[in-house]
Amino acid sequence: MLVQFPPSNSEVDLTTMYDAVVVGSGAAGGMAAYALCTHGLKVLLLEAGKYEDTSKTLHSMEWPYDHPRRGRMPPDYKALSAAEYSFRSLPYAQNSPYKKVTSYVQGWGGTDYSKDIVVDEKQNPYTGTKYAWVRARVVGGKTNIWGRLALRLSDYDFKARDRDGFGENWPISYSDVESYYDRVDELLGVSGFPENLPWLPDGKFQRPVKLSYAELHLRNTLKQMNRTLTPYRAGVTTDGLKHNRYRSRCYGRGACHRHVGGCDIHAAFDSPTGLIRPAWDTGNLTMRTNATVHEVTVDKNTGKATGVAFIDSQTHVSYNVKAKVVLLAASTLESARLILLSKSGIYPNGIGNSSGHAGHNFCEHVMGPSVAGFMPALVGKSRTLDDGRPGGFYVARYQNLDKNSKSDFLRGYGFEGGSGCGMIPGSAYDTPGFGEEYKKNVRRMAGATIDMGGFGEVLARYENEVSLDPNIKDAWGIPVLRFNYKFGENERKMCEDMARTGREMFEAAKFEILSSASNMLTEGWSIHEMGTARMGNDPKTSVVNQYQQFHDVKNLFVVDGSTHVNASCQNPTWTIMALCWRSCDYLADQMKKGEV
Ligand SMILES: Cc1cc2nc3c(=O)[nH]c(=O)nc-3n(C[C@H](O)[C@H](O)[C@H](O)COP(=O)(O)OP(=O)(O)OC[C@H]3O[C@@H](n4cnc5c(N)ncnc54)[C@H](O)[C@@H]3O)c2cc1C
Ligand code: SF4
Repeated sequence: MLVQFPPSNSEVDLTTMYDAVVVGSGAAGGMAAYALCTHGLKVLLLEAGKYEDTSKTLHSMEWPYDHPRRGRMPPDYKALSAAEYSFRSLPYAQNSPYKKVTSYVQGWGGTDYSKDIVVDEKQNPYTGTKYAWVRARVVGGKTNIWGRLALRLSDYDFKARDRDGFGENWPISYSDVESYYDRVDELLGVSGFPENLPWLPDGKFQRPVKLSYAELHLRNTLKQMNRTLTPYRAGVTTDGLKHNRYRSRCYGRGACHRHVGGCDIHAAFDSPTGLIRPAWDTGNLTMRTNATVHEVTVDKNTGKATGVAFIDSQTHVSYNVKAKVVLLAASTLESARLILLSKSGIYPNGIGNSSGHAGHNFCEHVMGPSVAGFMPALVGKSRTLDDGRPGGFYVARYQNLDKNSKSDFLRGYGFEGGSGCGMIPGSAYDTPGFGEEYKKNVRRMAGATIDMGGFGEVLARYENEVSLDPNIKDAWGIPVLRFNYKFGENERKMCEDMARTGREMFEAAKFEILSSASNMLTEGWSIHEMGTARMGNDPKTSVVNQYQQFHDVKNLFVVDGSTHVNASCQNPTWTIMALCWRSCDYLADQMKKGEV
């Protein structure tokens, strides 16, 4: 029998005892559902948002002038600006006259297409220290609009403490997770070029994106400086995936840059087509949307999880569901919130939080330093087709790789960048002038400009944490998160270095520098949250073990970025999925043996 996707919520059986309930359907939840369903387990996937068919709503190829507002949101919608994160007090959307207030990502182009993917800050407030928190409440979560940079971590990250003495090592090494990275690459597709760098391991790459002329020139310059510029390692299938009928290969339309993100033919990975549909096809998946989970329920006698309680996001009716195992995958900060919300006589500080580390060791990437310039030899040259690709370039980490390095900060950073002719020449926004002369200048410079911005590791410090705010609740009456999170001296020094070496590389390539920035952007800007329920061998200083299983509650797992011990400077999503798959294989095996 053909079962319709998406299912109707009224058809979901909430009385069944499921093998596993997964909370959240983004990169982590989608992978958990896929991995467990392919093991033959009956899985209930609960997602707070609705299902949105992005094949129909993203309109990747629509030209700005085909849209009544050139792609902009309706006038009663408002995206927070960079400055508002600093001068407004939290919750940011309080007293706003706008109908819907969103995070800053909706301040980019073509935001009308993603306006229903990101959360309404009015319904989802948070408090405490300033933080640009970007959330997506919809099936697939943030993978519907992510930036596609798919990188691996290495033992420079997993064993970072051994190198510089700071923080904790992960309880795993690269060799433990390598085969899972390979499996993620093969299942979902990643484009890239092998560089053989021990600190940025290569993957099972599909066809790489082509570097533009200025990028290739920079690559050659950096080689002489012992630094590596590699084509953007995009979580995009450039060769196609024979095993997935929901995704097309990349047609090189370059359209993933035009809106906030996303690809309406799903060449770029997103959880709904990459993981949830394939999980659905096993016949083992049940999905319930509009299910805002607010508690993991517990058996008072055994201390084991019995399932979860949720509120229907639209009707506000409460439900309970039962499962043999619970997997939290609501994203780093929302999973921390769920752990802290699940208080009981046995778990007074939140479920599985006897260590007191839940919510702590919160880390991410610091952004801000950037450099923009142009390659004089390309000014005035005829246009070339450069933007038909899902990304530009990545400069791999080069600082503090040597244990004896003498820099005044710990860890490292990488740069993301791009150059060349695009459908919409981004440099037009910064080109001075007016009228005819201005237009000429934009055309002359169109293919010559190049820019890049840094992403640096924020150290995982215990004092950087989130907790529950006792006074403020969200639209569903659930206590919200309160941030106590700040960049420190290491991030400040790292950013100074980032700004300096960014310019240094452009100068070495003989690019004319148009502008450069050295300030740190608001905490949260990178949208790469990690920590808050870190893994470790010691139950006194960690929340979960290497399989993301709670030390205190054997049938409870958290499979998103919250278990990461440090942030590395590489983007997290590929690691989230590799670790989640590994944990689900372990879980399935333990269930077979009757150990969970
Ligand atoms: C614009 C943008 C660019 C990015 N670029 C990159 C990049 O280039 N490379 C990279 O590696 N990463 C990037 N990221 C980050 C990447 O999207 C995340 O790392 C990834 O999506 C995390 O997966 P997740 O499953 O933990 O969280 P999410 O994808 O956010 O999914 C969490 C899901 O849980 C649901 N949920 C939350 N709370 C509840 C609840 N109480 N009950 C039920 N469901 C709940 C949410 O609705 C959501 O669907 C980017 C993100 C954005 C927004
Ligand atoms: S360039 Fe590729 S990934 Fe990007 S929108 Fe086009 S087809 Fe999709």
